[in-house]
Amino acid sequence: MTIRLPRGATLVVASHNQGKVREIRALLGPHGIHPVSAGDLGLSEPDETGDSFAANAELKAHAAAVASKHAALSDDSGLCVEALEGAPGIHSARWAGPTKDFRIAITRIHDELRHKGLTTSKAHFVCALCIALPSGESQTFVGEVHGTLTFPPRGDHGFGYDPIFIADGMDQTFAEMDPAAKHAMSHRAKAFEKLLHSHIFDESL
Ligand code: IMP
Repeated sequence: MTIRLPRGATLVVASHNQGKVREIRALLGPHGIHPVSAGDLGLSEPDETGDSFAANAELKAHAAAVASKHAALSDDSGLCVEALEGAPGIHSARWAGPTKDFRIAITRIHDELRHKGLTTSKAHFVCALCIALPSGESQTFVGEVHGTLTFPPRGDHGFGYDPIFIADGMDQTFAEMDPAAKHAMSHRAKAFEKLLHSHIFDESL
């Protein structure tokens, strides 16, 4: 069964990552949906025990939908570096350590590339968005954006690995781009486009 949310419906954004919540709110804005963040509701985050972005997104959306009794939208995402066999991948948040300091994660990528005699690599961001209902139904959509890494990091916008990622065809890193321009082409935007095409936000209801 396809999930349908009427205008004005409450949707819990199942993330405690302020960068993601900000971008998802911007994407939801035009669709008449009332977003509430899991952090605002005091929901706890489940352990990400899945072995893929989609599996982890599903864990997070189901947990938030059951706990809040509302529809919930989760995002599991990360950066896959081709020369590092796809790392950090689903471990992207963990590479920043307990203090979530992305300078640490970026330095680790740089060091691991240098150990291989490399100064850069092709890379891609992946985003899995899962929308789940308290009844247990869910749908998942995956988007990717491909590009190249650059060191040292550049730019002050965005979050996470944005300062080292240059999308194919661009000169600026995601952190140097105007946030609206990143929102228009990111892995999150591509997953969100697929979600919109499935008519989950039923604007006729
Ligand atoms: P998780 O999905 O909460 O496990 O965390 C994913 C991690 O991937 C985030 O903490 C960021 O470090 C990184 N990430 C995901 N999307 C983006 C993005 O759009 N820009 C930069 N880093 C991102």
